[in-house]
Parts: sequence; C-alpha cells; structure tokens
Amino acid sequence: ATPTALMVGTGRGAQLGILIKGPEVLESTRRVDTVVLDKTGTVTTGRMALQGVHVAEGTDEKELLRLAGALEHASEHPVARAVAAGAQERAGVLPVPEHFQNVPGLGVRGRVEGHEVTVGRFPDALPDTVARAKTEAEAEGHTAVVVTRDGEALGVLTVADTIKETSAEAVRELRALGLRPVLLTGDNRAVAEAVARAVGVDAGDVIAEVLPQEKVDVVRRLQNEGRTVAMVGDGVNDAAALATADLGLAMGTGTDAAIEASDLTLVRGDLRVAADAIRLSRRTLATIK
Ligand code: ADP
Ligand code: MG
Repeated sequence: ATPTALMVGTGRGAQLGILIKGPEVLESTRRVDTVVLDKTGTVTTGRMALQGVHVAEGTDEKELLRLAGALEHASEHPVARAVAAGAQERAGVLPVPEHFQNVPGLGVRGRVEGHEVTVGRFPDALPDTVARAKTEAEAEGHTAVVVTRDGEALGVLTVADTIKETSAEAVRELRALGLRPVLLTGDNRAVAEAVARAVGVDAGDVIAEVLPQEKVDVVRRLQNEGRTVAMVGDGVNDAAALATADLGLAMGTGTDAAIEASDLTLVRGDLRVAADAIRLSRRTLATIK
C-alpha cells in the first residue's frame, strides 16, 4: 500500500466530515458486508420529548410525574432527560431522591420521599389499561417506560423520538453498496420494528431488547457467522460493540466513549456519511492496487 494514496483518502475524508483515526483504518472496510445500526441517537435524533402519561386507576398523575421526574433528573439517558424535563414542566419542582441507581439498558431505581421507585423497562405486572396504553404507544414507534412505587405499577410514560430525515436514504445507499443493514437496540421490539419499517431495514434484521453489555455479543455472533461487520453507534453502551466491530463508526454528536472506541467519526451525525466513508475507502484502496 502506498502511504500517499492512503493520506489522500484521509484528507478527502476530512472534507466529507469523516474523521479517520489512522490511514490503516481504510483497509478494514474492504470486506465489510454487514452494517449494524444503533437505533437511538444514530438512526433517530435521540432528542426525546415526553408525550403521554397513562396512569393506573386511583393514581394521581402529578404524583407519578413527581416521583419519576425526581429519579430521572439524576440520569443522563435521553429517555431520562425527556421524562425529567416533561415532569418539571407539568408537575413543578421535583423532590431530590434519597437514593439513586442507574441500571444500564433497563432504567433507574431509587428512593423518593420514602418510597421505592423504578422507571424503565423492568419486568412489572401491569394493570390492563396501562398495558394497553404501553402496547399502543410502542406500535407507533414511541418508547414507553413504566413507573412503579413500592412494587406497584403507577402508570406508563411515553416518550417520542424522531427518525432523522436522512436515515432512510442512508439505508438505501448502504444497501446499494452491497451491505446488509441490521438495527440493534435496547428498546422494545415493537418500537424497533416501527423504526426499521420507516427506514427500510428488514424485520428479520431487527435485534431488539438487547442489554448494553450484550451488544458486543451480537457483533461477535455476526462475525462468527462469517460476516465482516461495520457498526455505527453513539452511546456509552455502544462502545464495546464499536471496538469489536471490524469497522467502528461513531456519531460525532455522540458520547466521547463511542468516539474513542471507533475507527471513524461522522462529524455531523449524518448516517449518509457512513456510506460516503465506505465508498471513499473502497476508491482509495482501488487507487493503491
Ligand atoms: P438504545 O440501545 O436504543 O440506545 P438503551 O440500551 O440505552 O437504548 O436503553 C434501552 C431501553 O431501556 C430504553 O428504550 C428504555 O426503555 C430503557 N431505559 C434505559 N435507561 C432508562 C432511563 N434512565 N429511564 C427510563 N428508561 C430507561
Ligand atoms: Mg444510541
């Protein structure tokens, strides 16, 4: 390989908004045939807003919002930010939790005003009306989280994320390059399938309800099946999978952990640039040969 051609590729990458860790990175894109896409923050904007509040019979909506908001205020997760902001808006000043624990991929739990509270996708028995509201929201592609107090489900909060305008086109471009897109998320299956449908990922290639530490196992499994895997992600929970993938691409709008674990950074967080990156490296490598 001539270093000059690789350096040209690197310079062109910068113009396209791709930061390349080292020129040798381009070589690993040669055989990539599968591209794993994280959902939240990668295919979607990750800027979420609290949408609906569905309370169980006998539950006060403000009380549910105060308890959930208090816990979520302490978490950095995009769902948590949406819940905390929405709760503050609708229920006013939030109490400070006496205890708080983040459970990656599931939610938060803690103690608020003497009650044990959880918010997230912990396995809880739900009253029918609450379960129905949850299912309906998820079918529309909205994330729904359950709020419990002392082991009892108080209701469901639904949070809406937006699919990036460029995601569907990006998936088409990746396919045109011969890559098979896979959607990977910790979120609910119905939500994941709604997003997959909207951007053109096959339902059979949706891997949902995956815990953060299991994302890396998904990448390894695909590699063991003989695939060469590119992964695009943005979150702390994507870092290990990004490092394990044959090619890791981080959203420049994402976390430092994801960027550090990756080979390439897509500066503007536009998924179409992932296709540009693969096209560029193939062209650069063709020049070398
Ligand atoms: P993704 O893989 O889409 O980036 P995560 O693995 O971070 O998502 O989270 C998976 C799911 O766990 C979320 O969709 C949400 O239902 C739940 N969850 C995670 N963190 C929180 C939180 N702080 N509050 C409420 N729910 C949460
Ligand atoms: Mg993410």
